[in-house]
Amino acid sequence: MRKPLIAGNWKMNTTLEEAKNLVKAILNEIDGTDGVETVLCPPFVSLAAIKELLKGTSVGLGAQNMYFEDKGAYTGEISPIMLTNLCSFVILGHSERRQYFFETNEIVNKKVKKAFEFGLQPIICVGESLADNEAGKTEQIISRQVRAGLAGVGSTSQLVIAYEPIWAIGTGKAATGKQANATISLIRGILADLWNREIAEAVRILYGGSVTGSNIAEFIAEPDIDGALVGGASLKANDFVSILKQTVNLKSTR
Ligand code: PEP
Repeated sequence: MRKPLIAGNWKMNTTLEEAKNLVKAILNEIDGTDGVETVLCPPFVSLAAIKELLKGTSVGLGAQNMYFEDKGAYTGEISPIMLTNLCSFVILGHSERRQYFFETNEIVNKKVKKAFEFGLQPIICVGESLADNEAGKTEQIISRQVRAGLAGVGSTSQLVIAYEPIWAIGTGKAATGKQANATISLIRGILADLWNREIAEAVRILYGGSVTGSNIAEFIAEPDIDGALVGGASLKANDFVSILKQTVNLKSTR
């Protein structure tokens, strides 16, 4: 039985003060959501302060990126060593990193290996563009991203994969639950092929792309979807908590 997971990707939003206020607002409302694993991914500069606020709660913390070297002359980068005492998850290969910072599958793979080396659980993002989707290339793109991202990684269920079609991110045009489930089930099949069926069934695979309190139920109702990576809606405490509560209710009544 996979525990549902909802992760909030705050992207490049919130000052330190705003980040602390958002966490407090979320913590005020989350009673009764223990059935879902909740992970907040604020900007790097807020991680330490938020770690303090989350002490004694069941809410986890994640970074939005990291570099693949341990330390050295890489101005502006954040290493896995810096993250290990701060958080337990790290988002890798987000489509915005691939698009604006030219991250390739090979770079994502190096980062994934580094995350494992330092005991960080990667949330690996994969997703096709609108053009690839319309050209019927979704399966091919996703397969390449998953296989290349995990090349040389031994079988493990200690990772999370987020299927985030690029055309659905921040656009308000979410995939349908059925579409997302079909691709996520394909990803599970790739993991079974790479490793084995038992491990594939234990890995949590999320949907991401314009998830809100108004559409989360459609995704959570699907058998292969284990939760969501939430961008915009994770910046609104009410909406985010509504996503958590619906996830707990729907997964436990299945
Ligand atoms: C994301 O950034 O991972 C994301 C899914 O964003 P949004 O929910 O805003 O589409």
